[in-house]
Amino acid sequence: MSRIVVLGGGESGVGSAVLAKVKGFDVFLSDSGKLADKYVEQLNKWEIPYECGGHSEEKILNADEIIKSPGIPNDAPLVVKAGANGIHIISEIEFAGRYDNSKKICITGSNGKTTTTSLIYYLLKEAGLNVGLGGNIGQSYAYQVATEHYDVYVLELSSFQLDNMYDFKADVAIITNITPDHLDRYDHKMENYVRAKFRITQNMKEDDCFIFCSDDEITIKHLDQIVVKAKELPFSQKEEVKQGAFLQQDRIVVRVPQEDDCNVFLNELALGGKHNIYNSMAAAITAKLMKISNQNIRKSLGSFTGVEHRLENVMTIRDVLYINDSKATNVDSAWYALECQTKPVVWIVGGKDKGNDYSPLYELARQKVKAIVCMGVDNAKIHESFKDIVPVIKDTLGAEEAVKECAALAEAGDVVLLSPCCASFDLFKSYEDRGRQFKEAVRKL
Ligand code: ADP
Repeated sequence: MSRIVVLGGGESGVGSAVLAKVKGFDVFLSDSGKLADKYVEQLNKWEIPYECGGHSEEKILNADEIIKSPGIPNDAPLVVKAGANGIHIISEIEFAGRYDNSKKICITGSNGKTTTTSLIYYLLKEAGLNVGLGGNIGQSYAYQVATEHYDVYVLELSSFQLDNMYDFKADVAIITNITPDHLDRYDHKMENYVRAKFRITQNMKEDDCFIFCSDDEITIKHLDQIVVKAKELPFSQKEEVKQGAFLQQDRIVVRVPQEDDCNVFLNELALGGKHNIYNSMAAAITAKLMKISNQNIRKSLGSFTGVEHRLENVMTIRDVLYINDSKATNVDSAWYALECQTKPVVWIVGGKDKGNDYSPLYELARQKVKAIVCMGVDNAKIHESFKDIVPVIKDTLGAEEAVKECAALAEAGDVVLLSPCCASFDLFKSYEDRGRQFKEAVRKL
């Protein structure tokens, strides 16, 4: 019996272990940290041997194949050692893809993955398809392949999940956009990160479709240098495209081979902001490819309620609107969040800096931001970057303190926007934890 070792016991790792068990492998899971109670329960229920709080090399280096969770870097000592021992290291998606012959719609990109993935899932589900949602979102893909049957999967894939993918093939692949992010995991080389994203198109055939943003220079530049066999369906807000989606006056036109055009008026879209026009375009192209009726596409794009922590309106207090955009963990996503604001902004920013260059935000900050409230352990870079642009900059060390500071600074008609540009790990467990603590603090006001 061949032996599979799973490294990392989170959603993706435990799902992989369950699938490996179901498929009859000798499986072992190892995590260097603590396991959440719910995962311990699952491992026990499926009778999967595991360890936590450290790795026993003798139980790992005898594997035929290792499934590595996306959170573990490729240069982790154990991973390097396993590779040197000739053990094949794959991702959850690669493994689960071997046992799944449903149609796979895969979404990656620097920003907009979760929104676009959720929107596509919603469009397909509303149209009555038997569809599953997975990848970086909700229940792991591997667990669902082990326990469910769907005709179609909509999968959100981070570049870390793509890193160890070799034979997996998407039927429809989407790259929402590419801007610098997570460069610390790619030797600080942009080209490595771009190449990781484009792995989503590897193995695609002529009948498959590749959807991307043709306004995105990095995407276009890379596309010029490689061969993608799949049909290309770009979307753009700047120019008309032959096939894909583009703007015509006040509407989006969606055009795919052998189908009539679908027109969606911009004022019908449930999600606001320029970035969501892109996300809606990508979703509408996919829906057209899946032969969903124009009427259903329009209806669903108009009724989608958004995703928590993404420009989520929390509440209005004394005529000040509080917005939770905790998921904006890089400069580009915060750019879009600021771009779509029409009122003066008190901006909560900061956290764990991933090598940010804040200069793309200077112009918007000058126009829209009346005060910055830093929420992070080390705010020096934010002060340095914005000291000549934003008149008031305050430091705080937690959600409650930050929200109180904002309430003092904001006047009727202003917006308080949490769009931090940074990861959350200096003060919070995750961006969700940060968003929830922010909302809780707002409710307490
Ligand atoms: P991801 O899953 O890629 O991190 P999300 O859909 O969770 O993306 O959105 C994260 C943040 O990025 C949102 O808060 C929003 O401000 C911004 N955003 C969403 N879509 C886009 C887009 N197409 N381009 C740029 N920024 C976006």
